[in-house]
Amino acid sequence: TELYGVREWGAGFFGVSDNGDLQVSADPGHFDHAVSIPEIIAGIQERGLGMPVLLRIENILDTQISLLNESFISAIGSLGYRGSYLGAYPIKVNQQQQVVEAVTRHGKKYHHGLEAGSKAELIAAMGMMRDTEAVLICNGYKDEEFIDLGLHATQLGFKCVLVVEMPSELALIIERSKEKGVKPILGVRVKLSAQANGLWSESGGDRSIFGLNATQIIDVIDRLREAEMLDCLQLLHYHLGSQIPNIRDIRGAVSEASRVYAGLVGEGANMRYLDLGGGLAVDYDGTQTNFMSSRNYSVNEYCVDVVEGVMTVLDEQEVDHPIIITESGRAVVAYYSMLLFNVLDAAHFEPEPLPETLPEDTNIHIQHLFDALKDLNLRNIQECFNDILYYRDEVRQAFSSGRISFRERAMGENVFWETIRRIATLAKDLPTLPHELEGIGHALSDIYYCNFSVFQSLPDAWAIGQLFPIMPVHRLNERPSREGILADITCDCDGKIDRFIDSQGVKKTMPLHVLKENAEYYLGAFLVGAYQETLGDLHNLLGDTNIVTVRIRDNGEFDFVGEMEGDTVEEILSYVEYDTKYLLTRFRETAENAVRTGKITPAQRREILQAYKTGLQGYTYFER
Ligand code: PLP
Repeated sequence: TELYGVREWGAGFFGVSDNGDLQVSADPGHFDHAVSIPEIIAGIQERGLGMPVLLRIENILDTQISLLNESFISAIGSLGYRGSYLGAYPIKVNQQQQVVEAVTRHGKKYHHGLEAGSKAELIAAMGMMRDTEAVLICNGYKDEEFIDLGLHATQLGFKCVLVVEMPSELALIIERSKEKGVKPILGVRVKLSAQANGLWSESGGDRSIFGLNATQIIDVIDRLREAEMLDCLQLLHYHLGSQIPNIRDIRGAVSEASRVYAGLVGEGANMRYLDLGGGLAVDYDGTQTNFMSSRNYSVNEYCVDVVEGVMTVLDEQEVDHPIIITESGRAVVAYYSMLLFNVLDAAHFEPEPLPETLPEDTNIHIQHLFDALKDLNLRNIQECFNDILYYRDEVRQAFSSGRISFRERAMGENVFWETIRRIATLAKDLPTLPHELEGIGHALSDIYYCNFSVFQSLPDAWAIGQLFPIMPVHRLNERPSREGILADITCDCDGKIDRFIDSQGVKKTMPLHVLKENAEYYLGAFLVGAYQETLGDLHNLLGDTNIVTVRIRDNGEFDFVGEMEGDTVEEILSYVEYDTKYLLTRFRETAENAVRTGKITPAQRREILQAYKTGLQGYTYFER
């Protein structure tokens, strides 16, 4: 377990059973009623679904919604804050109907609302929402249709807030509200000068592309007053960026925004809500630091700091405490999904055994490589390393200029890699590793070929180098003897994972078990519930994976409560505008031509066409 840091990143949801299975619990830190992930996999397979599978544990989502709301309730209670808290789940973080439905269902007892950033998201939100005590926040650029939809939501009794993101939106909002005779709740998004470090923090700061600066906000106030609608302005919003690792940045922004809020009250706006957007980070690597994939605070600390920050400024300004809203997405949904996949094969790095001596006529550079290997000892590691790099280049040049054969070149490379392997073994005994030898172990690591697509299922790992915890889900009572990287089944050289979480930051390989014959080896990538599903793309036409949702019962049993089959080849082809009927017609003609020209028999034609049709209806991933 320690090897994979489960205790650090798992937030109490994951643990290891005595038989070495990874187990999952919906009650953090309590494993009496935990469920074995390999058992869930067995259940998935009995139901005929193949790997990879995105597994959602529905009650982890409930736990996270409760954690966020209860932490705010407790901070508000203990600090004597005179306002309240309302959550708004930003649909963009995971728009799947099942997810939004689960958020609204469990969120009901806290009046946890939704945030929409586009027309499509608003239409989804209006369809899913029932709770008129919850807020429905409309961010994003708004055209007339978007504004009208928001006004209709208001007519239906929803607390729908139209947040002004661009100066140009205001005139249209005023016009449409008057036209429809609806008094809207308006918000304004401020561009704070506070900025945060983080992979997604471009949304904050003076140069952020969203929100209004101070002058523009004053202009909004003047125009609303003129239109006799200043009482509609009730909310101040900002969003510093997602995954803010440092609590100091969060505090700085809360403070600045609270001052702007007090300023709006002073201008006569009817202020009630302070909406801090997203940013509450997830500790993906378990380091609890301000590394990009971590956070140096807990959810509790976040809530206490936010409430205290707002109170401090507003008490000083003698302004009533607002209802605090956050649009936390990542922290709510990340934990509840994991990607499970099987390993298809492993390439071990093992040079061929070498002879005692080389034949007399061996090329001189290969001979030098061999001599360097024979002379290698603890004291001349660096010198030997330099020599073999030099002679390997000479061997390559000799091959390029036709002086040695391809077989001889292979022999030279083999001597080179055997020497590297021995250097790596010896280097383990050195008190300090020479700088140049630092990556030598990684050059020899294994490649485990895995049944998934990085581009489809872990797009942030590829696009922005985000780290996700990845580990085997069984055999955890056996010490893994290999170190490797993971390759996916796309044929792209970026289709790999070669950065892994580590207590020191990042490492280039992960510990893995030797594959057993006729037995599957399953790995999981965890905390993938936020952003990954809809950002994923169709590289190499690998489509959506199968999705299974499980609910853990209080007695440790579990129910399969949802199941969605992944894309078929036919579906994927239609996404990229193929007409599969037309494809089949063309393919039939090709096969018939082959019959006509005697390449195949009519019976073979039938078999080939059947395989083609079955392929169209099949899963896009590797099927055993
Ligand atoms: N609110 C807005 C306006 C956003 O743009 C985002 C995403 O970046 C969020 C909320 C969600 O942020 P997070 O996932 O960090 O909670």
